[in-house]
Amino acid sequence: MQCEMCGSEIIGKPNRIIVEGTELAVCGGCARYGKEVKSSETKNFFSGFKRVTKAKRSIFDSISDELVSDYGAKIRIARQQRGWSSEELAKKINEKESLLKKVEREDITPEDALIKKLESVLSIELTEGITEANVSGKKGRSTLTLGDVVNVKRK
Ligand SMILES: [Zn+2]
Repeated sequence: MQCEMCGSEIIGKPNRIIVEGTELAVCGGCARYGKEVKSSETKNFFSGFKRVTKAKRSIFDSISDELVSDYGAKIRIARQQRGWSSEELAKKINEKESLLKKVEREDITPEDALIKKLESVLSIELTEGITEANVSGKKGRSTLTLGDVVNVKRK
């Protein structure tokens, strides 16, 4: 093949360089006019691999119980009904008050372990299991209950 810079015949492997953002295959003599192209295959492989792992994780997450959308308010209301300050509740579940406040503001999503602790100490449900209706239906809340569906079918 020919050098894309000077046009002379390249013997053996061409040198791949970048000149002003364009990748060129050039002869040994012209290689010094641009930046040598470093193999990016390894990098691409790893970023691709990460993406796959992430996708798998989100599929797994969707299989487990879903946190209710208003978990922050639920926790706060249940706590206030018991007359507990956020500090008191934090002590009961052995967590930092700052963490609890973030969860109540829904700044952060609590981990499974924290959800379980909050559920048991406040006697509330913070997750909703995915039913067949939820999976096949649209994402989001449906106002239809199973009872409604049965009634509709009977009409
Ligand atoms: Zn050349």
